[in-house]
Amino acid sequence: PSYDYHEVMKVKVVTVGDMSVGKTSLAVRYAKHEFIESYNETIGASFYVRSIEVSGKTFLFQIWDTAGQERFRSLVPMYLRDAKIAILVYDVTSMDSFDAAASWLKDLLASSPSSVKIALVGNKMDLSDQRAVSVEVAKSFASQKNLAFIETSAKTGENVDTLFTMLGEMMLEDA
Ligand code: GDP
Ligand code: MG
Repeated sequence: PSYDYHEVMKVKVVTVGDMSVGKTSLAVRYAKHEFIESYNETIGASFYVRSIEVSGKTFLFQIWDTAGQERFRSLVPMYLRDAKIAILVYDVTSMDSFDAAASWLKDLLASSPSSVKIALVGNKMDLSDQRAVSVEVAKSFASQKNLAFIETSAKTGENVDTLFTMLGEMMLEDA
């Protein structure tokens, strides 16, 4: 054929982290380029999809987002099945949510295959006047635990595409 065959890599991504850190907002911002201020609490998983090109490869990221996983941690292993990437989200204005990230990480490592790549994401970077977790502290935790790290704002969109480009690069690392 005269056209270039372009392979699409479908990648399941799950979001984990405490309630209200912005997991759903990040997925929505990535998939639809918009920001929604409030949500109905729903139980069950929904997923958000968009493709992105990284280094000439097309990735179709399917972001699985559940409202229930914050409270029902026993669901996490099921939720992680076939996931290639876990985004571990905390809120830069909440030290509690950052501390909780360490405990989420333990759950992730205990219940996921070692092939799952993990990115630590400090969301709500737009709220700089309320910042409680410094970039330095988060960076050193991430490097200690061997995690990719970035700060984002689902509200302004800052670094959201960069996050997904970073995830694409992580996928290419061992491809
Ligand atoms: P989830 O429980 O982790 O899924 O969090 P949500 O996406 O539902 O967001 C919780 C609240 O934080 C909502 O009121 C959002 O509008 C708000 N929020 C989410 N991301 C951001 C952000 O980047 N900046 C700001 N200022 N607010 C955000
Ligand atoms: Mg949510």
